Amino acid sequence: MTFLVTNDDGIFAPALRRLRDALSPLGRVVIVAPDRDQSATSHSLTLHRPFRIHRHEEDFFSVDGTPTDCVVAGYHGLLDHAPDMVISGINHGPNMGEDVFYSGTVAAAIEGTLQGVPSIAVSLATRELSDFVAPARFVSRLVRRVLDSGLPGRQLLNVNLPHRPWSEVSGVRITRLGSRVYRDTLIKKVDPRGRDYYWIGGEDPVWEPREGTDFFAVEAGYISVTPLRLDLTDEHALEDMQKWNLEA
Ligand code: MN
Repeated sequence: MTFLVTNDDGIFAPALRRLRDALSPLGRVVIVAPDRDQSATSHSLTLHRPFRIHRHEEDFFSVDGTPTDCVVAGYHGLLDHAPDMVISGINHGPNMGEDVFYSGTVAAAIEGTLQGVPSIAVSLATRELSDFVAPARFVSRLVRRVLDSGLPGRQLLNVNLPHRPWSEVSGVRITRLGSRVYRDTLIKKVDPRGRDYYWIGGEDPVWEPREGTDFFAVEAGYISVTPLRLDLTDEHALEDMQKWNLEA
């Protein structure tokens, strides 16, 4: 059993070593992570320049590319054989609702799913300091479970953990993706040479407080596990759109 572990926060993310400690009893753990913070890079691939891979120690590599590059490298030649599972995280910050579309953490797990192996994205819902020890222990429990029961093809798990002492975690909820209320803004400034530059800004995300969602669970102190499928096809629209008569 070989686990490929990556983290879009970069190779120095403390959660990487915690995950290695927690997963080592179950098999070989190979860490392949970007050489710097690549959060919110989504599923981007580095295609317009070469990239380098640096081996820091045995089964510990950094890539000057994206989280997706890391997984692709792990499946196409970096290792002597293809990993059996991809674990992405533990991200320092939540990845819930529509944020899964921006998330480098979720994208790396999606890439694992595309490579045909069970994959899990894990995030800790805080920006505050954390030792990641208890979250990593939960990941190892979940991984054991996935090894026992497997995951359907084209499906991955997106896990978000609440930030609180382990004894105060309320339990685990299987959830659906929540919805964010968008308040992003584009902030325009002027640089010292008189040229405009922009920041994407805005307040912290606000979520619709809908029961059964990832956000609702984490807010109430539960660990949220959301099964995601890769097929984004809208089944209802398939039928409705037959009436559009686009050939006329
Ligand atoms: Mn990140």
